[in-house]
Amino acid sequence: MIDHDHLLQMLTRLKLTAIRDQVDSLLDEAARRELNLREALVFLCEAEVARKDQRRIQMGTSIAKFPFVRTLEGFDFEAQPSLDPKQIRELATCRWIANGDTALLLGPPGVGKTHLAVALGREAIRCGYSTHFTTVAALMTSLSKAHLEGRLDERLTHFAKPKLLIIDEIGYLPFEPNAAHLFFQLVSRRYERGSLLLTSNRAVGEWGNVFGDAVVATAILDRLLHHSHVITIRGDSFRLREKRRSGLMQTAALASENQQPNNDRGVNSSCR
Ligand code: ADP
Ligand code: MG
Repeated sequence: MIDHDHLLQMLTRLKLTAIRDQVDSLLDEAARRELNLREALVFLCEAEVARKDQRRIQMGTSIAKFPFVRTLEGFDFEAQPSLDPKQIRELATCRWIANGDTALLLGPPGVGKTHLAVALGREAIRCGYSTHFTTVAALMTSLSKAHLEGRLDERLTHFAKPKLLIIDEIGYLPFEPNAAHLFFQLVSRRYERGSLLLTSNRAVGEWGNVFGDAVVATAILDRLLHHSHVITIRGDSFRLREKRRSGLMQTAALASENQQPNNDRGVNSSCR
């Protein structure tokens, strides 16, 4: 006679919580499918691995501090013809993170840079890489404060830790004096250790102005561009375009009741 409680205790001790919580239904299912012992063991392990993966992704996502939830599946590639979906799909494999490369997403406001940065961050977590998201403004405030308080080294170590650091919105605000040096120290600290994903509304040629120091900007770019994937997005703001389109559709609907439905908003699900 098998002691059910004893089984549950062992599963708890081995931290096989998915198997423990569903042991009856899993065993019933294994019996129903007439699995042999080896197949049943695989079936049970799969349930446990799936639960552990799900937990890991949840935990990694909450640590990453993304500003919003966005996915590659939710990105409309047809609305953004300047972007090569193949290039994004390649980044979604996370090979670039394994290599410690840099990715730059460049383009005007509203074209989906932050959306893609978050979506690629999610893929990084799925691939098992620790990920942290920050705006450059928050990053620089944190580094400057630490510098003033004599804790810069500790702070640089903190931002050097995640395997992928996403720094959003470079170029919207000019750097404070001395901030370029702090940024340079961060880039040097991470260089060839972890990946950076940067977004900017400015072409890299303009980064001398953004950083307020052409010499430091060159040194930063030298490291960033060494092993890099640069993606330049062109076109109108997605948000403004959506607004304009709905405005147009209303006018057109008033003009003609037999108007063809506007069908080019379909979400491209083949992006991965
Ligand atoms: P950026 O960071 O380039 O200024 P965002 O990524 O914040 O732009 O995009 C603005 C909004 O429009 C976000 O809510 C984003 O999800 C959405 N968006 C932008 N481009 C697309 C797209 N091609 N498909 C779906 N949503 C998009
Ligand atoms: Mg943005």
